[in-house]
Amino acid sequence: MANTLSSNKITSQDKGAVRDKGLEYCHKQLVSLGWDVELPERKGQLLIARSKDGTRSIEIKVNASRTHTDVKIGSSLDVVTGDFWVLVNDVATSSPTAFVLPLQEAKERTAKDPRSRDNAGYWLTSRVYRQEQFREAWGQIGRGDNMPLADKKEEMAWRAWHKLTECAAQKETITYGELAAHLGTHHRPIRYVLDLIQQYCLAENLPPLTILVHNKTTGVLGSGFIAGDANNPQTSIENVWNHDWGSIENPFEYASDGVTTIDTIATSIAATPDSADEAFAKVKVRGTAQLVFRQALLKTYGGQCAFCGLKIEEALEAAHIIPWAEASPRQRLDPRNGVLLCATHHKLFDKGYMSIGSSGEILCSDRVKNRSPADKVIALDLHGVRARLPKQVIHQPDNEALRKHREKYGL
Ligand SMILES: [Zn+2]
Repeated sequence: MANTLSSNKITSQDKGAVRDKGLEYCHKQLVSLGWDVELPERKGQLLIARSKDGTRSIEIKVNASRTHTDVKIGSSLDVVTGDFWVLVNDVATSSPTAFVLPLQEAKERTAKDPRSRDNAGYWLTSRVYRQEQFREAWGQIGRGDNMPLADKKEEMAWRAWHKLTECAAQKETITYGELAAHLGTHHRPIRYVLDLIQQYCLAENLPPLTILVHNKTTGVLGSGFIAGDANNPQTSIENVWNHDWGSIENPFEYASDGVTTIDTIATSIAATPDSADEAFAKVKVRGTAQLVFRQALLKTYGGQCAFCGLKIEEALEAAHIIPWAEASPRQRLDPRNGVLLCATHHKLFDKGYMSIGSSGEILCSDRVKNRSPADKVIALDLHGVRARLPKQVIHQPDNEALRKHREKYGL
């Protein structure tokens, strides 16, 4: 007999389905962190994750619930096993949430249930485990492969940003060594992390937060130096100290799960442009959104200027068809509202000297006069030539947006 919706009774079949969904969710996360994962036997809750090189293994106890229930541990804490506990909530929905707790944290938070008759049951209540610090905190588990630092630097930047703004509030500086220890890495790669932060400060016109990092022995200021006033480092430091960092959201928040990077977000947008809304909610800040948008277009345009085919990545930019200021959150990241162009063609497109016609042909405005060979080669000669647009229709520029662009500039 089929299950009826009106029945509130949870059957063992339902329990099995909830458990499977929880395991499936964890499996996916761990695989993306580079682990080989072994699923448990029937009714089991313990996942075993092995590093790619086979030298490390960790045990993860998974507890899934349809909503967010308290978890019964058992009659004694001695039975508690695993290196991590993952409580997956809302498994029946399209967006489950996992709370990742190292064993010690989980143990410390378990308590005897005063309501239990024999006073013998240990519980981990949802009130206790559903905390921000544990939400999707997969980064604590670390990676199962030897992924290069390049892919972890955004997560490190998230933590470094937090540390540096804390230093600023206390009117302190920090050495490379201290920051490296805080991030759990060597001090050499720190400069890649600081570089990201510095770029962000420069782009957003913020005082150079990275100037707070200095060399212990020489006292020489570090990566933040070029962003500050080289002749007057003390003033730059004071500017950083006096800035109200508390009012600025951590721009690397998206990377806090240890898995998400600009590149993973860009990949997901390129795969499903309709998810641009969701992605925008994740990145929030303009500077980061621009990076994601560009990264997505680099993928969909095969890394070349749609007008001239230039393939020098550093010179390629992401042009918005409907400009940022007028675009909806989705349009700000949707590859269909963009064209990958070299810096020169980006400028010519933004200023309406060039556009794209309804059949994908490059258009050049009458305003471009043939006053030099470059005017001809870079602009005039391209009129009527087919633009190098993405092959897949879902990546091609939105017709309506292009029509507005042409109309605005009389093309
Ligand atoms: Zn170009």
